[in-house]
Amino acid sequence: MIRIGVSACLIGAPVRYDGRAATLEDKLLDTWKAEGRLMAVCPEVLGGLPTPRPSAERLGNRVVTQSGEDQTDAFVAGAERAVRALRSAGIKAVILKSKSPSCGLGRIYDGSFEGRLTDGDGLFALAAKAEGLAVFRDDQIQAASQWLTDFNQSMEEIG
Ligand code: SF4
Repeated sequence: MIRIGVSACLIGAPVRYDGRAATLEDKLLDTWKAEGRLMAVCPEVLGGLPTPRPSAERLGNRVVTQSGEDQTDAFVAGAERAVRALRSAGIKAVILKSKSPSCGLGRIYDGSFEGRLTDGDGLFALAAKAEGLAVFRDDQIQAASQWLTDFNQSMEEIG
């Protein structure tokens, strides 16, 4: 069975900065979860950050908390560990929680801590793309499903 990575908070893990989940209500995701198709990763937890923790945002190449603490090293380490975990499990695609300084894809909070978004990716999304993983936002589950269909088909053709 082809497996897919997913930001852990999207499937109910209470690992967000505020100690809560960000569970995504989606039938396909539920089906994949029930099939055991999903591998949950939280790069911030893998980076050694506690839960709950201060919220953080990307500010240029750094990741900082609202009080100005630089947490870039933990975010980079977590992103690398999360990608390595997916790679080790043979996973080639990941569904990412939007806007996060780790998992955000395309649009992320802009470092002002005022709820404003800017173009850009979280550090885990960047690392996943650099590793050649297929990446999908949490509003792109249908696209992930299509990727799965295409990937299955290509495996059958090869096999
Ligand atoms: Fe969710 Fe990603 Fe934030 Fe972890 S780092 S809580 S998986 S958005």
